[in-house]
Amino acid sequence: MALAESVRALVRPAVADLDPYDPAFVACEVNLSANECTWPVDPATARAVADAVASAALERYPDPLANALRDELAAWHGVSRPNIIVGNGGDELIYNLFVAFGGPGRRLLDMPPTFSVYRIYASMLDTEVLAVPRDPETFEPDWDEVLAVAPKCSIAIVTSPNNPTGNVESLGRIEELCEACPGIVMVDEAYGEFAPEVPTAASLIDRHPNLVVLHTLSKAFGLAGARVGYLVADPSVIDVFAAVRQPYTVNVMSQAAALASVERRAAALERVAAIVAERERLAAAIDDLGIRHWPSQGNFILLRVPDAAEVRRRLAEEHSVLVRDLSSEEGLEDCLRVSVGTPAEDDRVIEAFRSVLNG
Ligand SMILES: *Cc1c(COP(=O)(O)O)cnc(C)c1O
Repeated sequence: MALAESVRALVRPAVADLDPYDPAFVACEVNLSANECTWPVDPATARAVADAVASAALERYPDPLANALRDELAAWHGVSRPNIIVGNGGDELIYNLFVAFGGPGRRLLDMPPTFSVYRIYASMLDTEVLAVPRDPETFEPDWDEVLAVAPKCSIAIVTSPNNPTGNVESLGRIEELCEACPGIVMVDEAYGEFAPEVPTAASLIDRHPNLVVLHTLSKAFGLAGARVGYLVADPSVIDVFAAVRQPYTVNVMSQAAALASVERRAAALERVAAIVAERERLAAAIDDLGIRHWPSQGNFILLRVPDAAEVRRRLAEEHSVLVRDLSSEEGLEDCLRVSVGTPAEDDRVIEAFRSVLNG
């Protein structure tokens, strides 16, 4: 972004060269580029959400801490209200992590390739980024190096399942990191529901008060548009997040929609199980096309094709199918990420890949 010199003279150096986040959206009939849940919501939940939103008191400020939603989330996760804080999407909670625990003279331990938001927020808030790259073939973290660097860091983030590579981490590794890092360890479980066999790190918060576990309703619950995420952590850490947050960021409609959805979580989790099965069908079809891909525990699959940027362009322009091009990111040369859609959407993606790669 080329800033006018007069503005560049005014702006904080850390933000002078930032570009707005670009989801690279192009209107397409099939959009599997952002890991949203495109499966229909069951009719009972759809009705409950619509009723809850319709009766939200728009003339009143929201409950700042969304306590009704906190209580429901706490009941689900077997913790108490003081262990939970709700944010305007998981992204806001990641931002607030840097507001509270980052800043000049402090360091983030990042494990790329991973979610790019961490390093963007770190830089914006003058936090140095120490990158410990994952294995270029398997995308497993370099745990020896991670544990060697951790003592120097105020914040460490482990994404499990990792976006966009799909890897998951064991609780043993997370405990080692919590012990090695004197700062806050965030385990980002935005896709945790899609890895039902992998235990949540939330079970460790009693033993590790420097651990925070991030969740979102954007993926498994299909509420990306409502912008609701939450953290599970020790109450003393939650208090810090409560202190730095802007008071009314989660609006009354989103609180109402989220509460109605979480109250009916059994239906959402049934849909998640179907998406997990569909992920395996999509992976097998990608395999049949001879496309290199990585095993994923999220609702997406990372794959590598020759000339990925051109393949993405042709998928969109010739087949109206949108996937995410990650090929310009370090370690992800020629990689694309495809979100798991409905069976009909996935059939379109598979046919589009077949056609583009054969012609
Ligand atoms: C999607 C995502 C989030 C949070 O998304 P929100 O929509 O802001 O809740 C957090 N971490 C990862 C790795 C994600 O992919």
